[in-house]
Amino acid sequence: MGIDGKGVTALVAGAGCPLRCRWCINKKLLAENRSTPVTAEELNEKVKRDDLYFRATGGGVTFGGGESLLHTDFYERFREVCSPEWKLCAETSLAVPRKNLEKAVKSIDAFIVDCKDMDPEIYHAYTGGEHSLMVENLRFLLANADPERIVVRIPLIPEFNTEEMRERSAEQLKAMGVKHLDIFSYVIREK
Ligand code: SF4
Repeated sequence: MGIDGKGVTALVAGAGCPLRCRWCINKKLLAENRSTPVTAEELNEKVKRDDLYFRATGGGVTFGGGESLLHTDFYERFREVCSPEWKLCAETSLAVPRKNLEKAVKSIDAFIVDCKDMDPEIYHAYTGGEHSLMVENLRFLLANADPERIVVRIPLIPEFNTEEMRERSAEQLKAMGVKHLDIFSYVIREK
């Protein structure tokens, strides 16, 4: 159990991620073969014991990772078998093919996007990924899902950006139509 997204939620971590962030706290989940296979029906059986809490608080299931949007086929099936009253939320870097996002907007109610930084060079240095893919996917998400249900997180990343750079990222995101920002700092416990 954890609190990720609105209300009481069960946090379900899926394995695999196309990025390689310097300060990733979930490195064990980066390889897809590290996960324990589970069907949508089995997951529903596991989490439905908390149905009362989910419905009373407007919560449900939050999918994290790794990169949660690598598993959109699973979410389609889970949406079919779980309670229609549960809210499904995905934590994502948006570093995924567009087709994954097209599927996600049909089954996921809310998105928490970790955009890292809006400067392409900092983004690439920190993640190893392509900034343009994240930005274009964010534009698609803002156009195809309710912006009220999208939170974009902008971290202060030790050794990679500054508070000033983070503020610049926030301004760019607001100009794109992002309504909810979560501005925070990574806490690095060890090197
Ligand atoms: S996107 Fe998340 S899971 Fe993937 S490498 Fe970065 S911090 Fe780790």
